[in-house]
Amino acid sequence: MIVSLRPDAPAATTDTLLAAAAAFGLEARTIADGRGGSLVGIDGKLPPDVLDLPGIGAVHAAHKPYMLASKEHRAQSVVHVGAVPIGGGLPVLMAGPCVVEGRESLLRAAEAVKAAGAGILRGGAFKPRTSPYAFQGLGEDGLRHLADAREATGLPVVTEVMEPEQVDLVAHYADMLQVGARNMANFPLLRRVAGAGKPVLLKRGFSATVEEWLMSAEYLLAGGNPDVVLCERGIRGFDPLVRFTLDLNAVPLAKELSHLPVIVDPSHGTGKRSLVTRMALAGLAAGADGLIVEVHPDPDNARCDAAQTIGPDELATIHRAGLALHGALAGAMEGVLV
Ligand code: PEP
Ligand code: MN
Repeated sequence: MIVSLRPDAPAATTDTLLAAAAAFGLEARTIADGRGGSLVGIDGKLPPDVLDLPGIGAVHAAHKPYMLASKEHRAQSVVHVGAVPIGGGLPVLMAGPCVVEGRESLLRAAEAVKAAGAGILRGGAFKPRTSPYAFQGLGEDGLRHLADAREATGLPVVTEVMEPEQVDLVAHYADMLQVGARNMANFPLLRRVAGAGKPVLLKRGFSATVEEWLMSAEYLLAGGNPDVVLCERGIRGFDPLVRFTLDLNAVPLAKELSHLPVIVDPSHGTGKRSLVTRMALAGLAAGADGLIVEVHPDPDNARCDAAQTIGPDELATIHRAGLALHGALAGAMEGVLV
């Protein structure tokens, strides 16, 4: 059940509900409702007499299994990465190289993506590579370079964390922790990331259903981290001409089901540079709250994922066209778009 608490509900009401749930052996968690009040999600039913408490607005017996991630009874979330808001407003552009290659090259990339309109810098320091022989990233040196690039440009940084033991280290340097597609269902990692005190970018596993993706988000929310952004990055298809198939259905679907912001990764979603700009714009047309794009000052010579990496000029096109598209859609579809 989900219990809606009004903004004026005393703290004692929440405490009493949590204690009652514990007494009945039920899991219970709280989350802000985005309207000044809060929700208490209880994985089961409390008897009605327990619910006679001050400040209770409504009691909903039925709910989705992802009771905290669900949009039922809750307003759209806005997640702040540094000072950059994601969700419900202008689309945010995260951009940078697949992998941090070195300090100077990252600083060059960071300046270039900032000039092209990016609000957040991306770059992998710990890389999940299909081959154990492929470059695995610079590790902590890469994190230091990201922090230097933030210092130089003012852009907050997002980078991947792959193991529970790395979470504190990565959280020390990063403004946002990325959980990659290959780790979407790594529940021990999600539990640790939930407690790291940083916003999380949760990529969809490339064979995961939308509901499984939302259940992974639920681990983060249930672990006490309300700042989760979902990222559709393509699912496994059958056509060898593309690396993955960007599942655009998943964007309005996830936004219909969840209050969490949703962004799109047209780089991994296609694997093909020539498709990135169009699919980035398609992602925004599908309702995405932002994009994460692999960009390198010299894309052909990017050390990782060169085939899907674009240059800063193309990012500037995405930024320009993306804002125009967003403005046109917002005006023409007022009251229709989720
Ligand atoms: C990445 O963004 O660097 C990455 C490895 O993406 P994914 O986890 O979606 O493959
Ligand atoms: Mn990549």
